[in-house]
Amino acid sequence: MTEREILFDLLRNGVSPVHAVLHCERRLASAGFRRLYYEDAWELSPGGCYYMIHHDTTLFAFTVGETWDEGSAPSGAASRRRSRAPQIRLAAAHTDYPCLKIKPSPDVASNGYAQVNVEVYGGAILNTWLDRPLGVAGRIAVRSEDPFCPQIIPYASDRNLFTIPNLAIHMNREVNKGVELNKQVDMLPVAALLPKDGKEGDFLAFLAEELSIRKEDILDYELTVYCTEEPEFVGINDDFISSPRLDNLTSCSALVSALLKGRRSGGINLIALFDHEEVGSSTKQGAGSILLHDLLLRMLKGLGRESSAQSDLYQSMFLSVDVAHGVHPNQAGKSDITNKPVPGRGICIKEASAQSYATDCEAVAVVQQLCEAGGIAYQRFVNRSDQPGGGTLGAIASALLPAKTVDIGVPLLAMHSARELMGSADQEALAALAKRFFESESRL
Ligand code: ZN
Repeated sequence: MTEREILFDLLRNGVSPVHAVLHCERRLASAGFRRLYYEDAWELSPGGCYYMIHHDTTLFAFTVGETWDEGSAPSGAASRRRSRAPQIRLAAAHTDYPCLKIKPSPDVASNGYAQVNVEVYGGAILNTWLDRPLGVAGRIAVRSEDPFCPQIIPYASDRNLFTIPNLAIHMNREVNKGVELNKQVDMLPVAALLPKDGKEGDFLAFLAEELSIRKEDILDYELTVYCTEEPEFVGINDDFISSPRLDNLTSCSALVSALLKGRRSGGINLIALFDHEEVGSSTKQGAGSILLHDLLLRMLKGLGRESSAQSDLYQSMFLSVDVAHGVHPNQAGKSDITNKPVPGRGICIKEASAQSYATDCEAVAVVQQLCEAGGIAYQRFVNRSDQPGGGTLGAIASALLPAKTVDIGVPLLAMHSARELMGSADQEALAALAKRFFESESRL
């Protein structure tokens, strides 16, 4: 399969963070990766491939080399910095995306319609969610005999359950001047038409039937309302991919491919696919937790490298992989004046002196040299000086790691729309760079 086909597979299946993790897990498990559980003792061996899942929505996977190359101190100017090729190479992305989440007590009945109560998760462009076919996916907590161990069931509807209709232009003639949508009033999806007999909607009864369980046994859930539209090629030369969830399944897809294919003889390669990036990452399964640092120390201990763990970590390198902003065809003035990435012309290296993107000239130079050695196209991204722009998990995770860090990703248009747009050629470039990052020995 090509990287684009692999991406399309994840875009279709990764409809919630739970399902993105399940899909990536399937790829890893079928390639022989062995699952580890945090609560167990770990026995790691050279040449081993492992993964771990945290709260169903964050996934770590790593490969251990057959050897551990201590490296020789480089000569010349570099020797004063004692730098050498990192033996621990980390790359991270996120599994979540801006969307709507279903609240508890979900049923709303109004004027003949059954609706569900939702809240907005992350920085969604709200109007793009109108008039779309929508499904529901996530996980459901079900009553069990042991109150501390509720049964957790993943669920994804296999059809369109909801839609949020726009208001007709005849009822708001000012609509094309811009409409402010109220998150509580205007974003409630319609689920059904109510019968005239006064019977109300019952979303939990529907869920119970879907899962073949009793409604009373549904205790809680984390359910994402997702856009059910398919990923598609767009353009007279198929130059674009248009799809829901490109931010950041492009990166998750490329990192799993890179870990599966990019092997080298020594050290550790690790990918971390975190939840909760779109709400700030400071959660138990987000990049702002101690989890990654803790996991690395535990891995090194499991490999008998406890005494040199701090030094190993200090020499590690971290790729934070998330989408960048391509220059907009109708709004080029929103981009920086000298750095205007175009979709399809390669991955972006992202920098911000405010450190909203991890910015480290040493790490940037590493990526540039890896791209040049592999013939991989890259571009530079910075925000306009009068636009704050977004941030990524790179700056947050690297605050807990003493690693060289760089933010990279494919350029995107319509970021945080229900349907986003990328250049078709860029997925192969991203996967190729991530693979090269994992497999390259010290000398290119
Ligand atoms: Zn993102």
